[in-house]
Amino acid sequence: MNAEEFRKYGHQIVDYIADYYSNLERFDVLPDVEPGYLAPLLPASPPTTGEPFDQIFADFQKYIMPGVTHWQHPQFFAFFPGNSSFPAMLGDMLSGMISCVGFNWIASPACTELEPITLDWMAQIMGLAPKFLSESGVGGGVIQGSASEASLVAMIAARERKIRAILSSESLCAQHGIPPHTLEEINNLSEEQVQVLAAPLLSRMVCYTSVQAHSSIQKAAQVISMRIRLVDACEDTHRVSIAALIAQIETDLAEGLIPFYVCGTIGTTNTVAIDDIGGLADVAEKYGIWLHVDGAYAGSALACEEFRDGLQHAALARVQSLAINPHKWMLVNFDCTVFWVERKQDLLNALSIERHYYSAVKRTSPNHSQAPVSGRVEEYRNWQIPLGRRFRSLKLWFTMRAYGVEGLKQHIRRHVELARGLEEDLLAVRQTPAGLPVQLEMAPGRTLSVLNFRFVGQDDQFHLGVVNRLCYPNAQENQAARPAGKASTEDDRQDPIYIMTGRFNGQVTLRMSIGSPQTQKH
Ligand code: PLP
Repeated sequence: MNAEEFRKYGHQIVDYIADYYSNLERFDVLPDVEPGYLAPLLPASPPTTGEPFDQIFADFQKYIMPGVTHWQHPQFFAFFPGNSSFPAMLGDMLSGMISCVGFNWIASPACTELEPITLDWMAQIMGLAPKFLSESGVGGGVIQGSASEASLVAMIAARERKIRAILSSESLCAQHGIPPHTLEEINNLSEEQVQVLAAPLLSRMVCYTSVQAHSSIQKAAQVISMRIRLVDACEDTHRVSIAALIAQIETDLAEGLIPFYVCGTIGTTNTVAIDDIGGLADVAEKYGIWLHVDGAYAGSALACEEFRDGLQHAALARVQSLAINPHKWMLVNFDCTVFWVERKQDLLNALSIERHYYSAVKRTSPNHSQAPVSGRVEEYRNWQIPLGRRFRSLKLWFTMRAYGVEGLKQHIRRHVELARGLEEDLLAVRQTPAGLPVQLEMAPGRTLSVLNFRFVGQDDQFHLGVVNRLCYPNAQENQAARPAGKASTEDDRQDPIYIMTGRFNGQVTLRMSIGSPQTQKH
């Protein structure tokens, strides 16, 4: 495809995207396909010679679009939202144009230098403590691909911090049967020497989170072969039990284990429970444990001053790291997790790796000498697991500028207001359209824009059936369940809405998460 063809098809696709967003409501939110639908429709082997783009795009519309779940649909209420916006899409398009692999400064100075600026802006929007801003010189932020990666990276950094703390403490080394070292000595050890010293510690290290925390925390521990304790949550609030956490840590210490990482959540996946971050910080400080906070969904609401107390904002100043997903609820297309640490050196200690081909140099005229740039700009490849990095800060920058702080707050407030109104309406329902008596109850303490509710007096099976009928109202088995006498014609088609089940106190709930920019009150 040459530049002129790109221009032609690019315009065509931008038109297609604009039309798609204008007409989203005409699609069913969930696709009507069976598992395995695609392979029989496509050739088993790639074409030997290139195909015309018209044909490729026609096949996209014919075969791919029918199998798409429309996350941006106004009736998408499943999981958490996965926001997009036009400014973010355009930013991503330009990132695709530049297509840099920005692992160090010279690989793309703008890519390296825009990122801390956007993370500092975001930290200001969220009202984070100054220690997380790059100007502190100690802490800072980085974009990770997902909250899962952020939790993993925090866990790796926490483990390294703990190992270094033990190796450089005479009493701790004695306790663990290891010769003590000064920090300077540790820094001069080869990676292999550190690993040999740390080996007896690694098998005794343990991390903690709530049973209500997202599965990615457990996965992080799985990936780096660490023990993890899933600590009980309180029955009524689903917040992690601080007493149970302390009891577990004491038991582990008594068995010679080494607690090093605890993850609290602001906005758990199931019921959007907000852990007691202040209580967790007390525990973390007492036992010398790294406290990471996963704010994947609810963290975006820190932008609005009125939600901050409920989100434990003040206590966030005491955590070692924090992650929020603008790709969930802040209008930035997937993938974009903003991740801050109080001490970037912890990441560098754990993840730095050097080769001659990574050294960034600036060629200075007129004598063409080369000056190293290290220390003057971030080496973001050492803040993450992969080497390569996309220019993701562009879409974040575009979004913050196009909406402004007030626009972003408005986006969050609108969904919280929709959820509040819907909660009120649902609680007022007394009969079905067919006149049968009915009553709904809410799980206590709605947080932000997610509702968990049940039909009073109905069992779990009933609620699973309701979800099925809401998601697939036009499926044959669900047509049969319609009020008698209703013909099943095209006019009679009902609009699916995509909601899911949740769990509250062991019972199935209907869980509705409101967060699409396209969703309106009706
Ligand atoms: N944390 C919480 C609370 C979540 O709900 C989710 C996903 O929904 C995640 C983490 C994982 O997010 P990501 O897909 O960015 O890894």
